[in-house]
Amino acid sequence: MARYIGPVCRMCRREGMKLFFKGSRCLTEKCAFDRRGYPPGQHGQSGKKTKTTDYYTQLREKQKVKHIYGLLERQFRGYFQKAAQRKGVTGEILLQMLERRLDNVVYRSGFAQSRTEARQMVRHGHFQVNRRKVNLPSFLVREGDIIEVRESRREYLKIKDAVANIGNKIIPSWITVEMDHYRTRVAGLPTRGEIPLPINEQLIVELYSK
Ligand code: SF4
Repeated sequence: MARYIGPVCRMCRREGMKLFFKGSRCLTEKCAFDRRGYPPGQHGQSGKKTKTTDYYTQLREKQKVKHIYGLLERQFRGYFQKAAQRKGVTGEILLQMLERRLDNVVYRSGFAQSRTEARQMVRHGHFQVNRRKVNLPSFLVREGDIIEVRESRREYLKIKDAVANIGNKIIPSWITVEMDHYRTRVAGLPTRGEIPLPINEQLIVELYSK
């Protein structure tokens, strides 16, 4: 599946918030957002504010979520359409679906430093779900699923680092991580309150409902 391969720090600067694409680097003084917190481009530094319309605010909110989960427009719209067909609050269902992606669960569990790294690890076949190898980052986990690092991959440096640093990670309550056994269990599906994103998903619904 296609993915964005341009400069990622630019996206943080555009959205005016840290999106944490680069793992531990994001927490150091090398972070481009900390060094140059203004928007990218020729006029970014001028401090001139873009005229904000409702459309612009909604668009930026959608772009943020899209970037956070590393999706392109078509993929994101696909998730939205599926969410809109389900019963319930569309914005919340959308975020719940995105959280259930296997690459996100790997990241949230602390096996990877960023979603980009998690996506690559999944693609390289490091994980199995309910004892079956899965190398699709977009695979949606379900309640009760057990995601494990495959036995042959447990000696990999990145996995070992993750196990060593698990204490520094905040694990959401809807997953239970057993790092000693290289596995994580989906205890339940995430509610909106358990998804720590500073996003107003209603704006995305309004954008796509036009
Ligand atoms: Fe964003 Fe991380 Fe780059 Fe900072 S280092 S601008 S948080 S991707």
